[in-house]
Amino acid sequence: KQRKTQMPYYPGLERYEILEKVGDGAFSNVYKALDTATDKKVAIKVVRKHELTASENGKNHLHPNMKKKTKATERANILKEVQIMRNIKHENIVQLTQFSESDDYYFLVLELCEGGELFHQIVKLTYFSEDLARHVIVQVAQGIRYLHEECGVVHRDIKPENILFDPIPIVPSTSPVNTFDDEDKEDEGLFVPGVGGGGIGRVKIADFGLSKVIWDNSTLTPCGTVGYTAPEIVRDQKYSKSVDMWAIGCVLYTILCGFPPFYDESIRALTEKVARGQFTFLSPWWDPISDSAKDLIRNLLCVDPNERYTIEEFFEHPWVTNSPFPPKKPL
Ligand code: ADP
Ligand code: MG
Repeated sequence: KQRKTQMPYYPGLERYEILEKVGDGAFSNVYKALDTATDKKVAIKVVRKHELTASENGKNHLHPNMKKKTKATERANILKEVQIMRNIKHENIVQLTQFSESDDYYFLVLELCEGGELFHQIVKLTYFSEDLARHVIVQVAQGIRYLHEECGVVHRDIKPENILFDPIPIVPSTSPVNTFDDEDKEDEGLFVPGVGGGGIGRVKIADFGLSKVIWDNSTLTPCGTVGYTAPEIVRDQKYSKSVDMWAIGCVLYTILCGFPPFYDESIRALTEKVARGQFTFLSPWWDPISDSAKDLIRNLLCVDPNERYTIEEFFEHPWVTNSPFPPKKPL
């Protein structure tokens, strides 16, 4: 079903030929397009200025406060997203290649992720094997580690809709390119060992609309002089990184069993559950899943942000390193 799609015209973007719509978020339309200058496909995120209300596109999940955004804060937000993305270069993060704006629209030209959302893979596969879950979540975490440690950026909106992928196998750079249909190749070691990827290939984090640059003590000091920062700012920096770790825990839980750790029809009840960190490894779905995976999730879905795993602790966990669990206690 090829619906006719139209992107608003804007001078400077003539080289892109719109192919189809690939997504509509609460704030934007995203199109697949052909860059006629390079003959490569790209994604173009088109954000309409000044009319970003929930009712407009029939999505009602926005907080009421969000509808009252002023033109100025809206513009500030999108320019922040662009500024953040301009400085970010990592294989697990969607790359921004160009930015334009007209009177009515913002245009973000992005690296295209042909595989679409991780969310759709969950719907398709119901749940992932532990190996496939590891393949995915480790890449998400690599993107997050880069954001946290190299960029001083907290994503703040990690969820399956914002995790995209390329359906290409990850092969050592010296190997010939393979297709995923070619199962024999897996035995020839052309895929990342023990990974396979199940058609998911490279995972990329998208949607920096809610990201926040945090103040980094050790490197840059955009907000003032080192040593004069108030404790709540230092504390906030630490806590804000931990929100991404919580989200990684939610995503990992979800891909392993096919449903989210916290759910309730009523928003009030759901909020209560989240606040208390009230989740269970529901039987029978969680019965076949390893204690190691459960231990990792417990440490990520930990209500106290001081106790919650940091990105470094995540990478040291036996489930992530594929080591025996429980680990041998050092004497
Ligand atoms: P929003 O802020 O409105 O949520 P997103 O940046 O998350 O906007 O984009 C909305 C949807 O568009 C995504 O969930 C995804 O399905 C699709 N999309 C966004 N960027 C890309 C991309 N680079 N490649 C492929 N699909 C994309
Ligand atoms: Mg989104």
